[in-house]
Amino acid sequence: MKRGISFLALLALLAFAVPALFAQDTDQMPGAAASKSSTTFVRCGKLIADADQPAIDSGEIIIVDGKVTAVGRDLSAPAGAQQQDLSKYSCIPGLIDAHIHIWTGPRGQYPSLPLAAIRATKAMAYAVDSGVVAARSLGSGGFVDVALMNAIEEGTIPGPHLVPAAHAISIPGGHGDFYDFPPDLTPENYYTPENGFINSPADAEAAVHWQLKYGARVIKVLASGGVLSPLDSPFSDQVSPEELQVIVEQAHMAHVKVAAHDENLPTIWAALRAGVDSIEHGAFLDQDAANYMKQHGTYITETLYIANNLIENGARLHMPDYVTRKANQIWQGELQGFKIALSTGLKIAAGSDQSYEPGKGTVRDEIMTEVRFGATPQQALHFGTKASADLLGLDNLGAIAVGKEGDVVAVEGDPLQDIHALERVRAVIVKGQPMPPANRY
Ligand SMILES: [Zn+2]
Repeated sequence: MKRGISFLALLALLAFAVPALFAQDTDQMPGAAASKSSTTFVRCGKLIADADQPAIDSGEIIIVDGKVTAVGRDLSAPAGAQQQDLSKYSCIPGLIDAHIHIWTGPRGQYPSLPLAAIRATKAMAYAVDSGVVAARSLGSGGFVDVALMNAIEEGTIPGPHLVPAAHAISIPGGHGDFYDFPPDLTPENYYTPENGFINSPADAEAAVHWQLKYGARVIKVLASGGVLSPLDSPFSDQVSPEELQVIVEQAHMAHVKVAAHDENLPTIWAALRAGVDSIEHGAFLDQDAANYMKQHGTYITETLYIANNLIENGARLHMPDYVTRKANQIWQGELQGFKIALSTGLKIAAGSDQSYEPGKGTVRDEIMTEVRFGATPQQALHFGTKASADLLGLDNLGAIAVGKEGDVVAVEGDPLQDIHALERVRAVIVKGQPMPPANRY
């Protein structure tokens, strides 16, 4: 009762506060640079402005008020332009990671939400530092990814454009469930549609509505089991065809895409039949399913790096035994899916499935791993720039082209000859502004 009264009091306060908020709506948030007019002239060595076009030697870029206005050779620097001499380096578009989670501290610890969010700001700075200008967050607790998106969009913290899914939709005991408490300690309030947990089509509908209400811009469903979760198998089906259908229907009614986590062929088919927009991981994808995806324009988000890293370095990474065991179970299937996706010419996005813990893996590792297992450097750059931008619905990103956002990443070496040049990021320019080294690692 007491809680009800204070809630009413809060509502009354808000009723007075709202007009005041509107009265102040010309105020800028700290760090927002929207009103600052600026021109930047960038001189590159090799300029890979668009992964699908030939590179330009000694290429130059003009960025005005955050947007590219010219790309080419022998451009003249506009009067008063800020000059960025990156002629020792290759310039590429900002990278885009189609599948991330958000680092909030050491694995197995459950920090308070404020602490989680503060730590996550470091992960966002690390992403920019790695040359990442956009990312899709496919499952994170407590709406931390939505909060980050808002803080980045208002200019409060540096970070990539984020497309957040909020909570991934999962069954209790499924790939979204990281708690192995005994049943007498089961926190009933935790396993709710608001937190992404479903037991029925009605729950599935509610779970989509709750994620959207609190700011999700994509919906993630865990159609199969996974690798890092303690309780399940990657070969299990976890949501019913009816639940998948409801999820896709509700998300599409809100013009939001659906990404389905699939580590086995039956759940790939279930997700495809429901009409999802992207298959994540896609282990054990076969030619029939690939043909269906090609016909329907469905994306596959490849995530080779995480599984490969787990099977090659799992012990050194101090991963529990079940993680390396399950990674070994799916690795050949992921490789098979990748090779079929490549040879079929599917739409492929690059996803690291990493949390951007400072110093750890990023989409650069995914791009390099895709080259290691059969993509050309040009293909892999396309996956991690233009294709991911298209899947994320970010038309202003993915290439350095007139009208797009003025983002440029300078790397040492030529990534088209040696993709490991991506590990040597020497400058990151976002909306025409060089990111200060303090925001880089
Ligand atoms: Zn993931």
